[in-house]
Amino acid sequence: PAWLGVMGGGQLGRMFAQAAQAMGYQVAVLEPSADCPAGQVAQRLVNAGYSDAAGLDVLAAQCAAVTTEFENVPADSLSRLAQSVFVAPNAHGVSVAQDRVAEKRFFVDCAPKSGVMPAPHKVIATQEDIDAIGDDLLPGILKTVRMGYDGKGQVRVKSRADVQAAFEAMDKVTCLLEKMLPLAYEVSVLTARGHDGESVVYPIAENVHRDGILFTTTVPGPNVSDDSALKAQQAAQAIVAELGYVGVLCIEFFVLTDGSLVVNEMAPRPHNSGHYTIDACVTSQFAQQVRAMARLPLGDVRQHSPAVMLNILGDLWFTDDSDNTREPAWNEILALPGANLHLYGKDDPRRARKMGHVTFIAPTLEQARQQLNAACAVLGIEAEAAP
Ligand code: ATP
Ligand code: MG
Ligand code: MG
Repeated sequence: PAWLGVMGGGQLGRMFAQAAQAMGYQVAVLEPSADCPAGQVAQRLVNAGYSDAAGLDVLAAQCAAVTTEFENVPADSLSRLAQSVFVAPNAHGVSVAQDRVAEKRFFVDCAPKSGVMPAPHKVIATQEDIDAIGDDLLPGILKTVRMGYDGKGQVRVKSRADVQAAFEAMDKVTCLLEKMLPLAYEVSVLTARGHDGESVVYPIAENVHRDGILFTTTVPGPNVSDDSALKAQQAAQAIVAELGYVGVLCIEFFVLTDGSLVVNEMAPRPHNSGHYTIDACVTSQFAQQVRAMARLPLGDVRQHSPAVMLNILGDLWFTDDSDNTREPAWNEILALPGANLHLYGKDDPRRARKMGHVTFIAPTLEQARQQLNAACAVLGIEAEAAP
C-alpha cells in the first residue's frame, strides 16, 4: 500500500491518519514528541524536528504525498519536501495563513473577487506605528502576527496607551491592531480544492467560543441566513482559487450586527469547527484531505444529519481547584442518542487543553441541541443559550 505523510502529530494528524488508514494507506508522521496523539495510531513515526533535513528526506522518500496538520510548520520544510514529493497544501498557502500581516494583505487583495474584507487593521512594529494609530481603530484587539491560537497572543485595547503597554508586554514583536467589531455571530466555511482546480464547499458552520476557545459548532447554524451562507461560501471558494490552494482549508468569518460579513482568518488544514463532518457528512474533512493530497476525486460534502459538536477540554477532568483529576462520565454521554465520542488519546489532562470532542447528530437540529444540553448537564458545564 502507498504511504501518505503528515507533518505534525497532534489530534488533527491522528484523525487524518485514521481516515487515510480506512482508505488503505499507511501513514508516516513527522513529529519530534514521542507520545503524540497521531503516533499512537500511525504505523510509523519519523522522530524528527519539523526542520530536520534528514527526517524530511525520509518522509519524502517514503511517501506518495505529504500534508501538514498544523499551520506553524516551517514553510521552508514544505518547500524542501516539494522538491521530491507532492505536497498539499504547498508552502505558499501555508506561509500566507501563518502570518497575520500576509493573510490580511491577501484578503484585501482578494476582496474584488471574494466580495469580503477583513476588519480594519494596522501593523504595529515600532513606536511611530503606535503614535499613528487613528481613533477609528480603537477600541481594538492587538494580535501577535505569528503563532497565536485559541485567543493566545491577543490583548484587548482601548487606547494608544493600552497598545503601548501590550506591545511592550509582548516584547515588541510585530503585532496587528484590529478594530473591535460588533459581532452578531461567527461562522466558518470548510473548503477543499483538488489539484485539478475543482473545489467543494461544506455547509456553513456556526461557532460559539468560550474564553477564546471553540466551545461548540452547530450545523446548520441557527442564526445563519441563506444570504450570509451563500456569500461566505462564494467568498471561500474565491479565496482558495486565488491562493491556488490544494487541500482542505477553513476560513473564519464574522457576521456583524448589521448583517455584513467580515473575513477573519484561515487555517490551511482540517479545522476544529469541521470535526462534525466525521459523523454528519458523506465525506469527512480528513477523508477529503486524503483525497486532495492523493490527487483523487474530491468526495461528496453533503451533510446527512444536523449536528452539534462540543469540544472536550481538560478542565472537565478537574473537580475543584486542586490537581486531582477524574475521568468524565463517558458512559452517561454515550447513553445520549446520537452521541459520537472522539478522544485523542492524551493521557495528561490540562486545563484549556483539547482532549476530544463529542458530536451529536439527530433527525432535527432541535434534538441535537437537546442532546448537547443534556451532555452539558452531565459534564457540569453551563448549557448554551438558545440562539
Ligand atoms: P483560533 O484558535 O481560531 O486560531 P486566534 O487566536 O487565531 O484563534 P482569532 O480567531 O483571530 O484568534 O480571534 C479569536 C476570537 O476573538 C474570535 O473568534 C472572535 O470571537 C474574537 N475576535 C477576534 N478578532 C475580533 C475583532 N476584530 N472584533 C471582534 N472580535 C474579534
Ligand atoms: Mg487563528
Ligand atoms: Mg480564529
